[in-house]
Amino acid sequence: MRAIQIIEHGNPGRLELRNLPDPAPGPDEVVVRVRGCGLNRLDLWHEQGDLPIPLPTPRTPGGEVAGEVESVGSGVGGWKPGDRVAIQSNLFCGECEFCQQGEESICVNGRILGVQVDGGFAEKVLVPVLSLVRLPAEVDFIASAALTLAGSTAMHMLTSRTTVKPGDWVLVMGGNSGVGSAAIQIAKGLGARVISTGSTEEKRKFAAELGADHVVDHAAKYWARDVRQLTGRRGVDVVVEHIGGEVILQALQCLARNGTVVTCGATAGKQVPIDLWPLFVKQQRIVGSYGRNRAAMDRTLKWAAEGRLRAVVDRVMPLGQTREAFDLLRARKVAGKIVIAP
Ligand SMILES: [Zn+2]
Repeated sequence: MRAIQIIEHGNPGRLELRNLPDPAPGPDEVVVRVRGCGLNRLDLWHEQGDLPIPLPTPRTPGGEVAGEVESVGSGVGGWKPGDRVAIQSNLFCGECEFCQQGEESICVNGRILGVQVDGGFAEKVLVPVLSLVRLPAEVDFIASAALTLAGSTAMHMLTSRTTVKPGDWVLVMGGNSGVGSAAIQIAKGLGARVISTGSTEEKRKFAAELGADHVVDHAAKYWARDVRQLTGRRGVDVVVEHIGGEVILQALQCLARNGTVVTCGATAGKQVPIDLWPLFVKQQRIVGSYGRNRAAMDRTLKWAAEGRLRAVVDRVMPLGQTREAFDLLRARKVAGKIVIAP
């Protein structure tokens, strides 16, 4: 089979289209014929060698896979060739104390598909049967490959790690990002009033088109004050944060009493000085969120099937153009997802 592999880390790294032996499933594994694999910023960090885990090469990247079951291992029941599937990219053991509680995103034996094992920028991918999720008939492979990673991350943040009630104010940072664009739609679907942010006019327009009631410029000096004014100085109930650095400190200033900042990333800085006084006096929470559980994965695909959550696809490219796809994402010349269709 053909696969894109990272041969050498760098910015850009060396990616090669290679011919590899077809994978064969072990007892609890399946081989999936890849029909679509979404490109994520995680793939760029992986290419650059910029992740805090060992990154052996060569490695096939790509975690956001949709496709059809091609073959199943001897111990696999309930799945047969031709079944349409999405893959939960945070591979989990199903046995540790957290998996037993349905908290697969914090599995102590967790591995990331396309980083710690070969992923989906290939014609076929080998995965544990536990990672398969049935793809609803209404969701096509490309939409699934554009939604299941960032979309389910946002779903996990808003429905597992915190709750949103109708009428709540939700602030979504970076509304044009994968997580942000899904979070706007999910928060609106939950009945919230949504404020989003974008650093350019084009990005702010995009966030408004996705349903944000108000959009502010988080590159402006006093944007947090603008958010407080929009809420009648009350502040927001929930902040969906993934930028980190100075931005999360400003996001905290937007938070109402009893409010929650839920964070899944720190692109702009991992270490920030937090003022604890308003945090405890106003009974606020900062909640971490990582990946997704099966519940959030299922909910994401259900919402997509019902038309409540739409994938924003910039373009679909063939496997042979994966190098160009990485370059486009690095240059930020995309609006929505790039999906590779091997
Ligand atoms: Zn586990």
